[in-house]
Amino acid sequence: MIGAIEAGGTKFVCAVGYPDGTIVDRTAFPTTTPEETLAKVEEFFSKHPVEKIGVGAFGPINLRTNSENYGAIENTPKIPWRHYPLLEELKKRFNLPVAINTDVAVACLGEYEYGIGKDVSSCLYITVGTGIGAGLVQDGNPFQGKNHSEMGHILLRKHPDDRFEGICPSHGACLEGLASGPAIEARHGRKGAELAEEDHVWEIEAYYLAQAILNYFVVLSPEKIILGGGVMKQEKLYPMIRKQFMELLNGYIEVENVDELIVAPGLDDDQGVKGCIALAVKE
Ligand code: ADP
Ligand code: ZN
Repeated sequence: MIGAIEAGGTKFVCAVGYPDGTIVDRTAFPTTTPEETLAKVEEFFSKHPVEKIGVGAFGPINLRTNSENYGAIENTPKIPWRHYPLLEELKKRFNLPVAINTDVAVACLGEYEYGIGKDVSSCLYITVGTGIGAGLVQDGNPFQGKNHSEMGHILLRKHPDDRFEGICPSHGACLEGLASGPAIEARHGRKGAELAEEDHVWEIEAYYLAQAILNYFVVLSPEKIILGGGVMKQEKLYPMIRKQFMELLNGYIEVENVDELIVAPGLDDDQGVKGCIALAVKE
């Protein structure tokens, strides 16, 4: 049996399953202090013994393999977790092989192995939620530079009707600062779910996401671009994004079928835990 830990900033999900991605049991609890949270993780796995564990963690995390702090959470606003050596602690507590990557890289891996990306050799998974992040998997491996990428923090052209300055503490009007769930709420004064009928809200949102996807597409050329996260529960965004993307691309690169290029996740909300299983299997 393989273990999965989706270590999110607001909640942890622990699960056990098989290498084929079948999940047998799971639990979820809020992320509090590292000590309290890891005690609950230990409790779950003491009832469900596993051979190895895969972790998809909120970031930023240290993924520099030659660093002595490999697998530690880095400069997060969640003070108790800042510089917390998550990987080292898990290895110490379980004495098992533990593999770690970012939550988005792991979600991408889940879709690549078991979901909508299972027939392609490269895919990009973008989450549009409390933050915006993306992970790229190529030939079964999450892309890795010196550290993980931060694709939510790219700079974009402003929509001509958008006076909003953006909420990213570092860049103001980067993609995350303009198009994350909290950015929508800050711009319009209400949560995204309450703005469903306001067409201009989604027109602006699609404008930014289409630009971001154009940038990722020309740089990375992924075969599938999967859009997930809470904001994408507004399903009307998919056709709006595809249309704006094709307009921006303007024939420069041939796209046979944009409906198959820019897609919704195939695993509902399970790409994270299933991706953890896939990550552990590779370890
Ligand atoms: P997280 O990013 O924290 O893992 P989610 O992916 O669920 O969590 O994203 C949460 C964000 O998505 C919030 O900002 C919330 O307002 C927004 N959101 C959730 N549901 C909807 C919806 N139906 N329509 C628009 N925005 C939504
Ligand atoms: Zn930013």
